[in-house]
Amino acid sequence: MTTRRILLKPNDKIRPCPKCGQNTEFTIHSAQVAEDLCEVWAECKCGHEPDSGDRFEDVFGGVDDGNVQVALSCWNDAFASA
Ligand SMILES: [Zn+2]
Repeated sequence: MTTRRILLKPNDKIRPCPKCGQNTEFTIHSAQVAEDLCEVWAECKCGHEPDSGDRFEDVFGGVDDGNVQVALSCWNDAFASA
């Protein structure tokens, strides 16, 4: 498991966490879930995170800048109806 803590500037692009309402502090996770499959997702600083079905699936995983953006995009999709 690889993680990377990120701090965003105040913004209206990332959906507020449905639990605690903040949208600037996240931990990006990358975890191998199968031999050739990783899940990448954003976890709120309160510990709230998207279900497995709402995470980015990638062969290589990792928490580089590109995957951070994708993880945040998945976060938005996961809580789009919140
Ligand atoms: Zn939260």
